[in-house]
Amino acid sequence: GKFPTTIGTNTPVTQPQQPFASARTKIPTRQAIALISEHGDPAAEIGKDAAGGQNVYVRQVGEALARLGWQVDMFTRKSSPDDATIVQHTPHCRTIRLIAGPETYIPRDELFQYMPDFVDALQKFQQKEGTNYPLAHTNYWMSGWVGLELKRRQNIQLIHTYHSLGAVKYQSVSEIPAIAQTRLDVEKQLLEQAHSIVATSPQEKADLENLVSRIGNIDIIPCGTDVSTFHPISKADARKQLGIGTKEKVVLYVGRFDKRKGIETLVRATGELREKLEYSAEIDPQNLKLLIVGGSDPNEADGAERRRIEKIVTELDLHANTEFVGMVGHDRLALYYTAADVCVIPSHYEPFGLVAIEAMACGTPVVASAVGGLKFTVISEETGLLVPPHDVSKFAHAIGRILTDEVWARKMRKQASARVHQNFSWTGVAIQLSDLYRYLLAQSLIGSGLTRISSNPAALLPKLIAS
Ligand code: UDP
Repeated sequence: GKFPTTIGTNTPVTQPQQPFASARTKIPTRQAIALISEHGDPAAEIGKDAAGGQNVYVRQVGEALARLGWQVDMFTRKSSPDDATIVQHTPHCRTIRLIAGPETYIPRDELFQYMPDFVDALQKFQQKEGTNYPLAHTNYWMSGWVGLELKRRQNIQLIHTYHSLGAVKYQSVSEIPAIAQTRLDVEKQLLEQAHSIVATSPQEKADLENLVSRIGNIDIIPCGTDVSTFHPISKADARKQLGIGTKEKVVLYVGRFDKRKGIETLVRATGELREKLEYSAEIDPQNLKLLIVGGSDPNEADGAERRRIEKIVTELDLHANTEFVGMVGHDRLALYYTAADVCVIPSHYEPFGLVAIEAMACGTPVVASAVGGLKFTVISEETGLLVPPHDVSKFAHAIGRILTDEVWARKMRKQASARVHQNFSWTGVAIQLSDLYRYLLAQSLIGSGLTRISSNPAALLPKLIAS
């Protein structure tokens, strides 16, 4: 028989609902969740073919979420018969490749037609495993469409990260593909219907609100960086390894040769600063060194931009102060960041700007344009300085301030690396996502009215600067 189910009151104690309906008889010790990334295969070797930011993001976030206690199943499209169907990365994190369309590489603009097959394959996989994911985090608009479809078919909490936004992208390209209108429609539906949109910066949130729809729940959770690659090492050691003297004042640029990156502003600012140093006794102008790190192909647009920048160096007679280092791999890049006195990001526009968090992670203060993601990652006066884009004199002044104030610079080095380690490590990013997931799952059980408690309250709020 059963014990009476009333305790002290006449209200019967109802049996608690099975939290996240599972067809298994044994309640899993870990909650399984799905990360969906239709074209960015998280198991692909990074740096090959089209493997870029999205692959890195999904893989790093997936593994970090597994370390935080989730069972993470990452779904992508199988694009080669030679690829394994399941790749186990860690005991609780795996990539599952679903058959949707031919098992060959398909360009992104032709991929959407296979997404219904992707949904069917994912549902079949759930049936086979005897599980129903209560939550899916989708990446890029096509996976987002898969998420919307799953949401229609089963009770699922849908979280979406755009990675790239059609409404922004199509403003700057000359050829609009046939799929554009579908993409814009799906991106709007996602914003209005997903349980949460994860924007990686306040700029992306503003773009969504201004260009896509006013309806939607947007959370800001940034991109991360690998803090085991980028961490403070001895500046003296780094300089020794790179053959840089102790007296030199090193100003560093890392990134592509692209007009929007504003390298011209930095070169002109270096010229102006050198001129100022002629009249002060603080730094020998000969010790001012501008290192420009980044690859370029003489036959491509970046090659042309590099030649344009070289001309400006000649025009300003800055050859003795400037070095074009070329492309540097991630493993050696930490040496450059650490050896530098200041890293400058003079972009006219920057959606997120990974270089900023890489440099800060190594403990290098950043002088950056007050645009896009940089307004969010760099805290002016604490981890570096924010300057209006294009403003040569203000860049010169900001770089000069950091180079001539050793005590302040040392304080900033500590604050910069602490900020990245707390907020922008993959673990830090995953903690914030994990909070969001738990909140959404709880809300789906008990309805709205829940107050969200974040592990990371004010730390991420950028100090807005007047620009
Ligand atoms: N990078 C690199 N070697 C180089 C130049 C750049 O590894 O010689 C990397 C850099 O570390 C960063 C990325 O390229 O991770 C640039 O990303 P960011 O978001 O700053 O700019 P994007 O190129 O995406 O506009």
